[in-house]
Amino acid sequence: MKGAVAIAALAATTSASPYFSKRQANEAACKRLPLVDSKALQDSIKPEALLKGAQALQDFAYAHPERNRLFGGAGHNDTVNYLVEELEALDGYYKVEKQEWHSLAQVNGTASLLINGTDYNPNVMEYSPSGNVTAPIVVVNNLGCNSSDYPSTVRGNIALISRGTCEFGLKSVLAGQAGAAGAIVYNNAAGSLNGTLGPPRPQGPYIPTVFIAGENGTALRTALTGGASLIGDLDTWSLIENRTTYNVLATSNCGALNTTLMLGAHTDSVAEGPGINDDGSGTIGILEVAKQLAKYKVNNAVRFGFWSGEEAGLLGSTYYVNNLSPAELANVRAYLNFDMIASPNYIYAIYDGDGSSFNLTGPPGSAEIEEFFEKWFAGAGQNFTATEFSGRSDYQAFIDNGIPAGGTFTGAEEIKTPEDAGKFGGTAGIATDPNYHQAGDTVDNLNRTAFELNAKAIAAAVAEYATTFDGLPPKSLQKRRVSLWEKARRRVPKKGMKGSL
Ligand SMILES: [Zn+2]
Repeated sequence: MKGAVAIAALAATTSASPYFSKRQANEAACKRLPLVDSKALQDSIKPEALLKGAQALQDFAYAHPERNRLFGGAGHNDTVNYLVEELEALDGYYKVEKQEWHSLAQVNGTASLLINGTDYNPNVMEYSPSGNVTAPIVVVNNLGCNSSDYPSTVRGNIALISRGTCEFGLKSVLAGQAGAAGAIVYNNAAGSLNGTLGPPRPQGPYIPTVFIAGENGTALRTALTGGASLIGDLDTWSLIENRTTYNVLATSNCGALNTTLMLGAHTDSVAEGPGINDDGSGTIGILEVAKQLAKYKVNNAVRFGFWSGEEAGLLGSTYYVNNLSPAELANVRAYLNFDMIASPNYIYAIYDGDGSSFNLTGPPGSAEIEEFFEKWFAGAGQNFTATEFSGRSDYQAFIDNGIPAGGTFTGAEEIKTPEDAGKFGGTAGIATDPNYHQAGDTVDNLNRTAFELNAKAIAAAVAEYATTFDGLPPKSLQKRRVSLWEKARRRVPKKGMKGSL
């Protein structure tokens, strides 16, 4: 429902006065609490509580045959209900809402690909339709991002397309429009990955699409351009369901709503596993801070957003932001994102708000948020590094609307460099989270040191910005600065959602 999360819209639909009188009563209760204290809030974050929360999420996944927390499934619905119960148990400190939305979900899928009898071990692209085709393989020119890249000989055959520049979903649609019966996308680097076409797009339907390793794809391309004839036997099977799901929002009844601090983490996992680092860690990290914050008065309202459908393409956070009115958007003074904060082979990365590492700045104010976290890690005697605003997590919809953003991240599938192993320990040459998007993303594989430290960093940031936004550019200047930033940003090509290009 449009505007369902908005306080004004809620008041307009039914009994306005009970809500406001409740908020008034809560504000009176707030005044009797001590103002939030950074050290005390950080000290109240206990590793046992973090692990207990992570275990609860894993138990929800394993209580059902699919053993995951894919959005809208049983393990995920248990997660949502748990969050609501935990937040509502805090004596009315928060206004807790379940925001309902719907989307198609890829529940399960498999693929096989034999070429002249050799097995290429493909991954089925998420949202690929089911299908079976045996036909010649035809090379697509360039990166397959324009319809002119598709030769007429692709009709009825299997298109071989390189990864790069545009989204997998667009390649699948263009291949289909050129008449291809199936598509193979190959990596533009060594190895393979699990990619998504993203939910169906208006340009047209997808065709059966798989992904293969870069070394295999380039070898096939070389053979075909050298005149070889290759016959592929491509088989995909997908189970796609329309699902109902929920974001959970908890807004403090204390503090000014026109200067709201928002935090977010995603509550859903991929189909392959329980998703305990990704993003059980962020979910429990912000939940634990929300619980401890309930002992304190805040000057600025604090809203925790628990997003569903992140893994399917940032769906929940995008739905939330798209349904805010301009006035409600303007009330969100900053957004902090926590997606994977307990990676087994961790780095301590901070979103690159000032663009100094990746030449891609966040909205004005993001640089100051990055600096806040840098100072905090330095104060804790820790090294830190930067992570790009790559469009791979739920900050994206906030950034797109000019809201300053930041947060921390301990690594996903990226290979740890020797330099980072020197800075953070752990093992160079393997992923920062070797279990990323796999069945092994469990409680046992969390790094507890990283989990606790990052949860304390969340507490520190909440204590800071719940007290004052003086460290950010003044709100009166924000609008003008954002419009300048947006002009500069239009020159930078936009990145896609997680796993989509
Ligand atoms: Zn994630």
